[in-house]
Amino acid sequence: MCHQCNYRDLLRASALGATDNRLRVLEVVGGNNFPLSANDIYETLERGSTINRVTVYRILDLLVVHGLIERLSTGGRAFYYGLAPNAFHRPHPHFYCKNCGQMVCLNPESLTVDTDPLWKTFPGRIDKVEVRVDGICKNCIRQ
Ligand SMILES: [Zn+2]
Ligand SMILES: [Zn+2]
Repeated sequence: MCHQCNYRDLLRASALGATDNRLRVLEVVGGNNFPLSANDIYETLERGSTINRVTVYRILDLLVVHGLIERLSTGGRAFYYGLAPNAFHRPHPHFYCKNCGQMVCLNPESLTVDTDPLWKTFPGRIDKVEVRVDGICKNCIRQ
């Protein structure tokens, strides 16, 4: 979730161009306070208007390639999409519940990884560092 992000500006800055559909997909991903699956995103958009699934999936891929959103792995076949870190949105770890499959955003302060030594010494190109904590969420523990 990003309160200060201007999604139209983000799209323009990425050289992607702000089409209505791209903007709507980005708003759904950026406006949610936990990462969503491609199907969640499609269903949210589809409630408000007609957009086809293929279009949504294609736009998600495009936004990932251009670094506006990130695809978060669960360790299994499922993927979630969240807003990529930007000037207004700090990088943060995610928690994945192995029981119910929910992924949540963790506070950026809750687990900090010092990537500086890696950036300085790694000989290749690093595009993204993903930190995922796996476990069982509190709702699942209560049951
Ligand atoms: Zn759970
Ligand atoms: Zn997140």
